[in-house]
Amino acid sequence: TDLSKIRNFSIIAHIDHGKSTLADRLIQRTGGLTDREMTHGQMLDNMEIEQERGITIKAQTVRLDWKAADGDTYTLNLMDTPGHVDFAYEVSRSLAACEGALLVVDAAQGVEAQTLANVYQSIEHDHEIVPVINKIDLPAAEPERVREEIEEIIGLDASEAVLASAKSGIGIDEILQAIVDKIPAPKGDRDAPLKAMLVDSWYDPYLGVVILVRVIEGVLKKGQNIRFMAAGTQHLVDRVGCFTPKRIELPELAAGEIGFITAQIKEVAQTAVGDTITDVKRPTAEALPGFKEVQPVVFCGLFPVDAAEFEKLRDSLYKLRLNDASFSFEMETSAALGFGFRCGFLGLLHLEIIQERLTREYDLDLITTAPSVVYKIHLSHTKNEDAKDIDLHNPADMPDPNRIVSIEEPWIAATIYTPDEYLGAILKLCQDRRGIQKELTYVGHGASTRAQLKYELPLNEVVFDFYDRLKSISKGYASFDYEQIGTREGDLVKMSILVNEEPVDALSMIVHRGTAEQRGRGMCERLKELIPRHMFKVPIQAAIGGKVIARETIAALRKDVTAKCYGGDATRKRKLLEKQKKGKARMREYGSVSIPQEAFIAALRMG
Ligand code: GDP
Ligand code: MG
Repeated sequence: TDLSKIRNFSIIAHIDHGKSTLADRLIQRTGGLTDREMTHGQMLDNMEIEQERGITIKAQTVRLDWKAADGDTYTLNLMDTPGHVDFAYEVSRSLAACEGALLVVDAAQGVEAQTLANVYQSIEHDHEIVPVINKIDLPAAEPERVREEIEEIIGLDASEAVLASAKSGIGIDEILQAIVDKIPAPKGDRDAPLKAMLVDSWYDPYLGVVILVRVIEGVLKKGQNIRFMAAGTQHLVDRVGCFTPKRIELPELAAGEIGFITAQIKEVAQTAVGDTITDVKRPTAEALPGFKEVQPVVFCGLFPVDAAEFEKLRDSLYKLRLNDASFSFEMETSAALGFGFRCGFLGLLHLEIIQERLTREYDLDLITTAPSVVYKIHLSHTKNEDAKDIDLHNPADMPDPNRIVSIEEPWIAATIYTPDEYLGAILKLCQDRRGIQKELTYVGHGASTRAQLKYELPLNEVVFDFYDRLKSISKGYASFDYEQIGTREGDLVKMSILVNEEPVDALSMIVHRGTAEQRGRGMCERLKELIPRHMFKVPIQAAIGGKVIARETIAALRKDVTAKCYGGDATRKRKLLEKQKKGKARMREYGSVSIPQEAFIAALRMG
């Protein structure tokens, strides 16, 4: 292979700016698929949930052949990147596998927070960045304004930005030519010992684990014995190839190339993103920099509504884990909910995706307990034990407060972009969530002026519904991105919720003392709405230790639902009864009180 004829690039864009549509166009234009094969919608987002939510979870990669203006045929490797902050580490590895990036910006929306976060990462990887202003077909498109924004906010020369419409197919050839002209060819010695980066992996029922690699030096071949340097494991390569996006087997992948290998690996957990792959007999001296083990940051309990489905839940979790090593689970028992699992996720979106797949693909009815971040607790020593530190994942495991010396909680640095008119409401939201303002600047001018806010916030205040609130108070215009910045000490306490005098452990949470009362009141008020009336009065209380800090009461009910029907319409009566029965199945009994499944999550949304 002639390295000068290879280009490796990724596409960075804010959600909905047209990354997937553009990728499809590039595939179509370079002949990777026929028009008929394209009709399946977006090729790069292949999981159902990814398509529905319009985000890419697993990075995919395609090899495109393009005959450029100089008459030579170039191999363009398009590396797709996950589109959400929860998957920031995967994004960083995908970017590290490329020499450049297309920066896609919506001509009507302009630069958004997530665009920036990714651009800065791309710049850190010394990428050549090719700006593309997409959706110029829209009546609201303002390509010149967006061009200025790219220059002003990002500091990139956008004078040669390609004006495009991925939807109508405008500017596609110009983009392909710009990739060839502007993005540097990869470097790398094919005679050196093998050094390749594990960029991504996924489970395929026929092939086992498929590993996406970028070869930095040396050559990868079928029959080769390889070693994963961080994992310390050895494997025999049984397939080498690439996607066009159809899977094609190749004799080898050499320095500078991107493709896949299989090596009879059964679980993705054995293939850590960022690991270095080398040859067993002739290993490279040094692993690639930047390897990091990803750690779940958000934890919650998952319990089957029907206790008989415990085994099914366990099997389903094992199956999902085959394909997603970044979520973890271990068995948990709860006094109220019985047997279930404590699960760890990269973030709230990741949690929702797994929960949705369990419900949809595995047909499970689940109760999700309050999501929690990981707290570091410093304990004083007792007679029998020395002083020690513990990581608390579950509010139910909170130690005796008398033994707690201090609690640390994780913090994040957030960047928010918003039109000026929503700034006041957003400042208040951040303030309510214990945020510390670091910076407030304005970017752009005239009608396109936007406030850029930098805040430090406790992760615990963000994991519940911060993003939803931000979107709703800004009518969808504000954008948000964050990174973790370590832990800080906080005045934190465990708040319990009691329904009919009984503590519901699934609803207990760690809260800041200063906001506990407000949070407790909010929880009680929402639970009052969410829990149906019973034949008796049901008190709902929030408490810290033995002290009740908020209280509501659900009034008693006497009527049968069908009483409304006056015995007249038998069909309607039957339907109502069926509905009632179905509703029952989705409830959990707490002593003598039934709590609908939806209440568990809904109650956690802050007012
Ligand atoms: P992604 O989230 O960045 O992958 O964005 P998608 O490619 O999924 O596009 C988001 C939405 O914008 C979809 O409804 C697309 O049909 C639409 N879209 C993408 N490119 C264009 C374009 O050039 N013009 C118009 N009008 N719509 C586009
Ligand atoms: Mg997409």
